[in-house]
Amino acid sequence: MRVIIIGGGIGGLCLAQGLVKAGVEAVVCERDTGRAGRADRYRLHISPAGGRALRACLPGSAWQRFLDGAGEASGGFGFLTERLRTLVVVEESVMYPPSADPAERAHPADRMFLREILLSGLDGTVEFGRDFDRYDLLPGGGVRARFADGSETAGDILVGADGAGSAVRRQYLPAAEPVPAGATGIGWTVPLAGGAGPRIPGRLGHGMNMIMVSAPFFLFTSAFRRPPGPGGAAGAPGGDYLLCALVTRSGACPPGVGSFTGPELRAVAATMMAGWHPDLVRLAAEAAPETFGAFPFAAAPAVPAWPGSQVTVLGDAIHCMPPAGGIGANMALRDASLLARNLAAAARGEVPLAEAVSGYEAEMRDYAFGAVRSALGNLRAGTSASLPAQAGMRAWFRLCGAVPALRRSGFGESWNRDARPRPWELAA
Ligand SMILES: Cc1cc2nc3c(=O)[nH]c(=O)nc-3n(C[C@H](O)[C@H](O)[C@H](O)COP(=O)(O)OP(=O)(O)OC[C@H]3O[C@@H](n4cnc5c(N)ncnc54)[C@H](O)[C@@H]3O)c2cc1C
Repeated sequence: MRVIIIGGGIGGLCLAQGLVKAGVEAVVCERDTGRAGRADRYRLHISPAGGRALRACLPGSAWQRFLDGAGEASGGFGFLTERLRTLVVVEESVMYPPSADPAERAHPADRMFLREILLSGLDGTVEFGRDFDRYDLLPGGGVRARFADGSETAGDILVGADGAGSAVRRQYLPAAEPVPAGATGIGWTVPLAGGAGPRIPGRLGHGMNMIMVSAPFFLFTSAFRRPPGPGGAAGAPGGDYLLCALVTRSGACPPGVGSFTGPELRAVAATMMAGWHPDLVRLAAEAAPETFGAFPFAAAPAVPAWPGSQVTVLGDAIHCMPPAGGIGANMALRDASLLARNLAAAARGEVPLAEAVSGYEAEMRDYAFGAVRSALGNLRAGTSASLPAQAGMRAWFRLCGAVPALRRSGFGESWNRDARPRPWELAA
């Protein structure tokens, strides 16, 4: 069996790793012209759903390098007011059930580091500079992919892992085109140490945090610290940093913000945070402008089941969601792990290929569109400008901060909902 994977992002590369590990031939066709074609430094929250998939797909040595470089999540998730008063800190042990198994714990991972890990050992498998245009289904079975430069390649199955703007999805499932989620993220980074950049307020130097306000926006922060030991240096090549993201309903920030320059975005963020604690305002106003970027959020519509064929899709190509709750990459990794497992079973002759694909799609639709709903729910709650709703939420969070049992029952289930193991993950 030959699997053509369009897109060498998080999901596509993880699928390739899983297939190569299972001895199935795969080719990844990636539009970027080389492995160094990216500069995104944003940290990713890898939940147990992502961890399980990475362990299943990566060779043991690469999984260990991931663990050495990504390190342990620590510091939990704090909810604070715009005056920097802490309402509650939800500990890691509440977010996910405590486990001695590193795949069952959360890991903060630098995006470029994860990409390097996922690319390792795939030199003959990943082809850069291949900009997918369209596919044709071949009369005797199989599929041919065509590229913008006129080249083509044929295989038994084609997987669209080409992200939110997927050309594969546009041709295969046009009704699944994502729609704007009515919100935008303005992201930037601040060094955690070394005297460069603004001072980091105490709690924000640890774990993840959300600054809640009675406004249609909130600030999310996440501290990325290299783990000690030689593997840690590889995990965050540029040093330790704080990721900040001002998540705002589209109407609450200037129109056209998606094409603003760094200095313009910095001014927008600082203006929106005016009146907050001065340390928070400085966090935006004194940050390096070249680290700023804006991301309009989109969400996939839930599409009715479609018949399986020799084309399928994974990750953002089919279930893109706003990054509210850090779920998207984890679902892309889970897709890759499940699809690799099903395709490997088909390659061994244990199930027909069509059944392997439709089995993957049915299971993926169930967990992934649940995750899209979670992300949209998180976004709505965070950007609610309603004063009574904010006051109620703050009072509840304060109570949870004071009473550990309430914290466990109030936060544990909702956090772990999308990362809880699926039966096939448990069996693995
Ligand atoms: C600011 C921000 C923060 C986030 N934080 C988190 C987080 O903490 N945790 C989390 O789980 N998720 C997070 N996400 C979401 C996560 O980044 C995505 O869900 C994830 O990258 C999806 O992986 P993917 O493989 O489906 O797509 P991608 O990683 O986008 O990969 C798609 C690949 O396809 C290639 N491609 C596109 N078109 C073509 C073509 N025509 N031909 C060939 N190749 C093509 C692209 O170059 C790219 O390499 C965040 C997103 C953003 C924007």
